[in-house]
Amino acid sequence: MPDSVSRRRFLASAGAVLGVGPVLAACGGGDVTAASCQGYSALDAAALQQRQSLDYVDNTPRPAELCSNCRFYNAPEGGSPCGGCQLFPGPVAPDGWCKSWVIMAT
Ligand code: SF4
Repeated sequence: MPDSVSRRRFLASAGAVLGVGPVLAACGGGDVTAASCQGYSALDAAALQQRQSLDYVDNTPRPAELCSNCRFYNAPEGGSPCGGCQLFPGPVAPDGWCKSWVIMAT
């Protein structure tokens, strides 16, 4: 079995145990590409749990509240379309959102 397939199966199993399936489903699943900011395959179960606990989604349900205008957002580097969050590891979409959103200081 290819390594990427076994890794996906492990994450799917870990997600089921931790109840992160809805988060992965909301974000387009665990099958990932960097261009879509859904590169979760390198994240462990604890990191996925952190993301879920803050109700992170790739597309904000609140148009005025975006990761890209949040004080915890780390802007993309190296030509990546994805930034990061200071509260949990892994890629974060500029148009994403979580319940810890706080307006960026000007
Ligand atoms: S705290 Fe939430 S809204 Fe702010 S950058 Fe992190 S994930 Fe996005």
